[in-house]
Amino acid sequence: MSSAIPLNVGIARSAGSAAAGAGKRVLLAEPRGYCAGVDRAVETVERALDKHGAPIYVRKEIVHNRHVVETLRERGVVFVNETDEVPEGAVVVFSAHGVSPAVREGAETRNLRAIDATCPLVTKVHHEAKRFARDDFDILLIGHEGHEEVEGTAGEAPEHVQLVDGPDAVDAVTVRDENKVIWLSQTTLSVDETMQTVQRLRERFPNLQDPPSDDICYATSNRQTAVKAMAPECDLVIVVGSRNSSNSVRLVEVALNAGARAAHLVDFAREVDPAWLEGVETIGVTSGASVPDILVRGLLDLLAEHGYADVHPVTTANETLVFSLPRELRASRR
Ligand code: SF4
Repeated sequence: MSSAIPLNVGIARSAGSAAAGAGKRVLLAEPRGYCAGVDRAVETVERALDKHGAPIYVRKEIVHNRHVVETLRERGVVFVNETDEVPEGAVVVFSAHGVSPAVREGAETRNLRAIDATCPLVTKVHHEAKRFARDDFDILLIGHEGHEEVEGTAGEAPEHVQLVDGPDAVDAVTVRDENKVIWLSQTTLSVDETMQTVQRLRERFPNLQDPPSDDICYATSNRQTAVKAMAPECDLVIVVGSRNSSNSVRLVEVALNAGARAAHLVDFAREVDPAWLEGVETIGVTSGASVPDILVRGLLDLLAEHGYADVHPVTTANETLVFSLPRELRASRR
């Protein structure tokens, strides 16, 4: 996990158009964009394509980003919803969000050559679920219903896991033994909202146990911290990310809760509505953990055309974490 460092604001790039854009500036969150798990997952698919040739099958979106998915599709990746859509014996990659044991078994039954791109930080939560299920705990999994990661984690111990989708879902929770209850969580939630849910759970179950380590991952919390640092100064925050990307959607919510006067999510710069910029001086820019930085650069170029050429980084952490590729692809890492 990255350590937080003092807020650092400095001019990163300044064009000569200050007169045209007087008072207009961009605050650029750092860290933003690709996390170690996404970087590993995308490279896993690229290396699998190099090694096995197209087509490669990927169960679900490898990461939740339209640009990434469309780019890989052009290279010969076939995205499927379930492994029974994959021809017998073909190569299938499991996405960064993880899969349940039932999905692995389904792939084995069809003799698929499975490569697992599950983020190691998701795998860690799977291990926690298995461990506490073995000890016969009721596991309260805080997360969003229908999200692939939640389905994978819950699938490790379906008899023991109950989904808790936010603070309002707490009242409906029932447990067998109030002294054997633990909460775990999806990795990409709002840190603050999750703590509200935990507080409500603890009011009902005072002996509720905490996870052995944080389940909300370093990348999610670091990106939220950076947004919180800049949002109070922003008339507008633009988050680059896809609508099905949990951590990207959370960044919009965090920006608004932290004082941004408006916040929008866009996949591409072309989705920016010029009306958003009317009367706006300071724009905050960030991106979700599944977003390549080329999309942020496209947004900065567009904003510069509208007079927002002064870009000031807002740095709250330095990230250095790198995950090794799945074993079967390690030799071919670039
Ligand atoms: S957001 Fe966190 S859990 Fe998800 S892939 Fe990135 S590092 Fe892993």
